[in-house]
Amino acid sequence: MHEFSYCDGELYCEGVSLARLASEQGTPLYVYSARTIREHYRRLDKALAGLDHRVCFAMKANSNLAVLDLLAREGAGFDIVSGGELFRVLKAGGRAHDCTFAGVGKTREEIEYALEQGVYSFNVESEPELEFINEVAGAAGKKAPVALRVNPDVDAQTHKYISTGKSHNKFGIGIDRILGVYAEAAKLPHLQIRGIQTHIGSQILETKPFVEALAKLVPIVQELQSLYGIEFFSIGGGVGIIYRGTLESGAPDWWERADEDGGKRIGFDDYAQAVVPLLKPLGLKILLEPGRSLVGNAGVLLATVQYVKRTPAKTFVITDAGMNDLIRPALYEGHHEIVPLKEPSAGVPRGPVDVVGPVCESGDFFAQDRELPEVAAGDRLALLSAGAYGFVMASNYNSRRLPAEILVDGDKWGVARARQSWDDLIAGEKVAV
Ligand SMILES: *Cc1c(COP(=O)(O)O)cnc(C)c1O
Repeated sequence: MHEFSYCDGELYCEGVSLARLASEQGTPLYVYSARTIREHYRRLDKALAGLDHRVCFAMKANSNLAVLDLLAREGAGFDIVSGGELFRVLKAGGRAHDCTFAGVGKTREEIEYALEQGVYSFNVESEPELEFINEVAGAAGKKAPVALRVNPDVDAQTHKYISTGKSHNKFGIGIDRILGVYAEAAKLPHLQIRGIQTHIGSQILETKPFVEALAKLVPIVQELQSLYGIEFFSIGGGVGIIYRGTLESGAPDWWERADEDGGKRIGFDDYAQAVVPLLKPLGLKILLEPGRSLVGNAGVLLATVQYVKRTPAKTFVITDAGMNDLIRPALYEGHHEIVPLKEPSAGVPRGPVDVVGPVCESGDFFAQDRELPEVAAGDRLALLSAGAYGFVMASNYNSRRLPAEILVDGDKWGVARARQSWDDLIAGEKVAV
């Protein structure tokens, strides 16, 4: 579901006109719907009501403090992948004890910080990391709670850059070796074995890979329960969202249909129906680490058309937003629907255009050969489903300022992150020698 729709010919986020936000705050501008995020969290939480569970938002998808605050109030924990993310959780009023710390390259500084703050679990991805955490914990006079990330060797059927659960990926410890590594962990004096974790990839659009992974892992989890009395099993994130749909009538009507599962997509209920029967008999605490599915459809990136450049080969719609603001199309061939903020009338001519940014890279495009209603300089566009892996991947490339972020809640809205100033661009820099 989502809270973006046309009303009287204008695209709204909840009760707020996006054209108004764009004129007041400028573009490029990220806008998030609080209601959408809350509703997604509640739906997932409800779908899992039959399990002793905790939803740990994978905050790498969207780490704005206002978003974290919103989810912390709903009762979410957080899946973090760096010391900086833990710092953000604490600043947003979240608790370290509700955080699981993932990632293949944790540093001494990050491990010390996470130990000091008391994270719930370090999700460990290799033997050297296990030994290193043991050493750092010992030096700090602490016992580090750990879970091993197991790589179940299943095909998540997703883009190769976001598939993580095959044996050739860098993530986790192979399923055939996992019990041996737990036995090693049990011998290390400064570790406390607390759980087991897995995550097979992102933007997964079927339940099959999840079921396959869990079916492989359940016997191992049971063995770990009897050997070490583990208390949790984290089944990762990865539930996909709808990015693609028809634009007949110019309205993003496919968003409405998404919940009826018209397209290839799994809803939280399908997901829960597939995984709960496998997990319930374990009697363990189940952690989930959803990122995209909570926030992806809850955000849009607004841009203004700067020029329309017609060449014999193509028409380029050049916007003031670029790949530095939203890199998914360049990085993952990610698709974002693009709609004008003013609803196009039925008779408006359409044609194939490339929607591109101003950055000096040929990879700087949002859409190629896309049928869009005709636009002119000054028109405003929304790139839909940009709430996950959007702003968090933005950069200052080409010395472009990071965009502002707005959170809308009903008729209210506020600046969740101010647009960078030119002084921000050079903060910390000086002529060095
Ligand atoms: C990225 C990631 C997630 C979240 O994935 P989504 O597809 O955004 O739900 C969860 N767990 C781990 C370990 C991750 O790396």
